[in-house]
Amino acid sequence: MDWVPEDIDLSRPSAARMYDHFLGGSHNFSIDREAAAVAEQAFPGVRLAVQANRSFLRRAVKYLVDNGIRQFLDLGSGIPTVGNVHEVAQGKCCGARVVYVDIDPIAVGHGLRILAGNPDATSVRADLRDPARVLENREVRALLDLDQPLAVLMVAALHFVPDAENPWGVVSGYLDRLVPGSYLVLSHGTNEDFSDEENSGFETVREVYQRTASPIVVRTEDEVAKFFAGLELVPPGLVRLSDWRPDSAEQWKSWRCGVARKPGPIG
Ligand code: SAM
Repeated sequence: MDWVPEDIDLSRPSAARMYDHFLGGSHNFSIDREAAAVAEQAFPGVRLAVQANRSFLRRAVKYLVDNGIRQFLDLGSGIPTVGNVHEVAQGKCCGARVVYVDIDPIAVGHGLRILAGNPDATSVRADLRDPARVLENREVRALLDLDQPLAVLMVAALHFVPDAENPWGVVSGYLDRLVPGSYLVLSHGTNEDFSDEENSGFETVREVYQRTASPIVVRTEDEVAKFFAGLELVPPGLVRLSDWRPDSAEQWKSWRCGVARKPGPIG
């Protein structure tokens, strides 16, 4: 398998590879599929949630291109299997530039393979919890002009940043550096709408992710709303995944998502 880097840890599942499996991708191993099966048995909605999340991501990117955004920084981008940001953005507008950032070597390695020959997109291995370092990264700066509006995507990514590491400070670490007219695209799991049965199933999901390098956290709607502090949410605001400008009858009643603009005069 030429997409497998030499330095990966195959003794435990990976959040990125489990997510790839839930999306129907092929960049995962039996250890990931077994962990995913345990999670899915305890919480059958997980696959639907992941697919609804990816659909939100695609709709948000289309919206942003339609509203003049030409630069995308996709943090915690995952394995670029199905419906990548660059496919959507560059499909709608030639010259859109995209940098994918992930901590997972397979996500980045595979990203680089599929982006070979695409001068306007790349994949960088970095830790999204360090905004200053990500924004100073040479490859990020080679493609993205921080003096022009850009979209930062943190889609299903902050589940992996515990409260103790101040995920709200991480988000503002990016937005503070960006010019007015930039956007934040964010989705996040919440358990507020779960039934008792779903809550107990989710405990198993949490245990499964404890085995990966990325233990999972879900947050309340208020905690998710705090990620958008100081920004202007575009309609319909902070809503469930399936309620953000839906283009199909997809239903997923949990999670929250939104797209918000950094206010202020543009350049
Ligand atoms: N954003 C994609 C989407 O919504 O379709 C993928 C989401 S996937 C659930 C979360 C991704 O975040 C995984 O690929 C994981 O490797 C990555 N991740 C977790 N912690 C990270 C960190 N500290 N820095 C960068 N990426 C991270």
